[in-house]
Amino acid sequence: MLDRAAECAPPERLRDHRWRRLRALVQDVFGANPFWSTKWRAAGLERPDDLRGWDDFHRLPLTGKTEFVQDQAAHPPFGTNLTYPLERYVRVHQTSGTSGQPIRWLETQASWDWWAQCWRFVLAGAGIGPADRVYFPFSFGLFIGFWAGFEGARALGALAIPGGGADSLTRLEAMRALGATALVCTPSYALHLVETARERGIDLTTLGVRASVHAGEPGAGIPAVRARIEAGWGVRAFDHAGVTVMGAYGYECGEQAGLHVNESEFIAEVLDPTTLTPAREGELVLTNLGRIGSPAIRYRTGDRVRVAETPCSCGRTFMRLEGGILGRLDDMLIIRGVNVFPSAIEGIVRRFPAVEEFQIEVFRAGELDEARVLVEIDGVDGAAVCTALHEALRGALGIRVPVALAAEKLPRFELKARRVARRQPS
Ligand SMILES: [Zn+2]
Repeated sequence: MLDRAAECAPPERLRDHRWRRLRALVQDVFGANPFWSTKWRAAGLERPDDLRGWDDFHRLPLTGKTEFVQDQAAHPPFGTNLTYPLERYVRVHQTSGTSGQPIRWLETQASWDWWAQCWRFVLAGAGIGPADRVYFPFSFGLFIGFWAGFEGARALGALAIPGGGADSLTRLEAMRALGATALVCTPSYALHLVETARERGIDLTTLGVRASVHAGEPGAGIPAVRARIEAGWGVRAFDHAGVTVMGAYGYECGEQAGLHVNESEFIAEVLDPTTLTPAREGELVLTNLGRIGSPAIRYRTGDRVRVAETPCSCGRTFMRLEGGILGRLDDMLIIRGVNVFPSAIEGIVRRFPAVEEFQIEVFRAGELDEARVLVEIDGVDGAAVCTALHEALRGALGIRVPVALAAEKLPRFELKARRVARRQPS
């Protein structure tokens, strides 16, 4: 289906479309791909035809990230999630490794083309088209990051500009020289470029960039972070969700009323993380339908989401996740017994324009974890900002989180930000 026809198709037609794709996927994978064949046989599936309807699909076992890590450790370097002989694969990438051992992933030409097609939805959702020049300030290395986004921009007919191997100032100069109109990077890095520009006296709003797309962290879905990027760059900033293991599955439309899930290329389920039964709010479980060479089927993303009950006014019928990704279940902190996502803290910190960067320190105090927020302040009365932020955190989270000025410069990030630091109690 063409992008727009797929996005606005009646839900039952999309469901039939997904069922046909799933059947074809299972036909190709079963018997050929050792990882899935072993897993499904252990669960009682003997042949592809045993999958007769959605109930059978929902009985297939769930899959977690550690299974891929263990499989690759047992069968280095690529593991056994391979549907075809190795010579069919044309690219290798890996996860960022922010939460443990990186996972390698091989792509066939067909699965790489599929990635690009998925990114077309993301970029088009942000209003980016063939007339745009899209800049990617990203180190094009093994981490998959924005490689596929770059391919997606090309597939859309836009001009894709690689921004690897350069420092922040050089990147800003390249954007001006080449007339970039769109920016794709992590939210943290977009903010870091704002800071770099201010230090050098560059006004980013004169660059001519009109839209930005952000992934890798929940940032662009947090209103205060989005507002800061939009003010700094003079753009409309769009959120996007994707995972190396899965693909580029979530994106915003012009209404910016949460993330749409690309339901023509993915099967999305939301499950209560404890009972694993369908829920309106819970963990997002995804299946990709176009990466036959190395698929991920009923994969637990670890992302906490809430499904919107009303259709989006943009006309897309794809599932909509209210507030985007609400938090990563593995990132959740339990501070004094209260569940807190780091993204919730970021949403409050970023309301304070004087805070340049921050870090959440977590340390054990008796039986409970305690937290402290360290801030780097630009130019104004730091103590007053700390007091106001402390009050704002208490009001929003219902717990006391001390706020202090950082003694030294805090780290900046191009890729996934690591703003939570575990420390020994001082
Ligand atoms: Zn929409």
